[in-house]
Amino acid sequence: MFDNLKTKLKGLFKKAPAEVAEPDAPAVPEAPAAQPVVQEAPKQEPVTPVPEVKQEPAPALSRKEQLKAEKEAKKAAKKEEKAAKKEDKPKDASQLVTDAGGFFDKKIKEDSLEDLLWELELALMEADVALPVVEEIKEGVKQNLLGKKYSRGHTLEEVVELSLKDAVHSVLRLNEFDFDDWYSKQKKPVVVMFIGINGTGKTTAIAKIANRLQKNGQTVVMAAGDTFRAGAIQQLTVHADKLGCYIVKHNQDADPAAVAYDAIEHAKAKRKDCVLIDTAGRMQTNSNLIDEMKKIVKVAKPDLKVFVGDSLAGNDAVTQATAFDEAVGIDAVILTKIDADSKGGAALSIAHTIGKPIAFVCNGQEYDDIIKFDSEWMLNRLFE
Ligand code: GDP
Repeated sequence: MFDNLKTKLKGLFKKAPAEVAEPDAPAVPEAPAAQPVVQEAPKQEPVTPVPEVKQEPAPALSRKEQLKAEKEAKKAAKKEEKAAKKEDKPKDASQLVTDAGGFFDKKIKEDSLEDLLWELELALMEADVALPVVEEIKEGVKQNLLGKKYSRGHTLEEVVELSLKDAVHSVLRLNEFDFDDWYSKQKKPVVVMFIGINGTGKTTAIAKIANRLQKNGQTVVMAAGDTFRAGAIQQLTVHADKLGCYIVKHNQDADPAAVAYDAIEHAKAKRKDCVLIDTAGRMQTNSNLIDEMKKIVKVAKPDLKVFVGDSLAGNDAVTQATAFDEAVGIDAVILTKIDADSKGGAALSIAHTIGKPIAFVCNGQEYDDIIKFDSEWMLNRLFE
């Protein structure tokens, strides 16, 4: 019976091991260099210097070259064998499961499926995926498989594993977002607004994006839109100074929409490429905050509204993302502190719940600790 789905998942999602380099061929002594042939001068002739005769390299392969060729042929054969094996292995559940099935195919029965789904549920929960999302994915897998038939050469565990992988992968893949490609198609100045609860890493994420843009030759203006906390204005100023980018800031309690407006006007006047707007992050349930967000959106008309979520916040991150999405419409997500998060299940939860793409994940406190989201990478991480 199927004891440990997680161990199996590990195997399933594990990256192919790096190819083991073959040990170097034993050193073969090189063929002795051909002795230069020196022609003896006839005794009676005046002595003239005889040019040294250089021996042409033999057309046949030297021992060293032969060994190298053999090694390469072996490598190519191994590669082919590996590719053939990969071909044999089903890539997704649809290769194993059919509605009608052949005479020898096995039917998927509810009780055997339930046991496996339970294991699957535990594995997802251990990966910090939010419970409602786990339920939905589980139900999806169940509906895909129940009453269908799978080929006799395979086990039900294999079928369930592949089906789960398909479900998770399709959620993540659908939610990839290429920020650079998107950015390159925008009219300047590109306005990006950052939304999220205090402490999630919003300010740091803004600085990371500014740094990334500047490295790509873009000029950046920051808008200190969290006027609720004097500390927030100060914090963003520190980043702006460090990165050498212009910051527009007003006093504490000033209207954040006005700050955003001024920053955009400055960018237009000075032909700057991008405006990054920070916003306040009091509790998302605070209706003042939501009204404030709506006003900034109305005034600044951001090209992109990015929700910054803490991957450690689990279900809370999902609730926050949903609330902001309902209020102002989120376009993309940055998931922070993935370095401290054991699995990153929050990525799957948010992507699945609000159906919005994950643009970046942040994996540390340095400016370069930001990576483009990649569904394959996340899939491996979820089940590693
Ligand atoms: P904000 O209140 O949402 O603006 O959050 P901050 O940007 O001030 O970040 C809060 C804390 O989280 C700071 O100590 C950051 O250094 C830290 N932080 C931000 N992003 C990351 C990350 O990706 N990994 C880790 N380990 N810490 C982070």
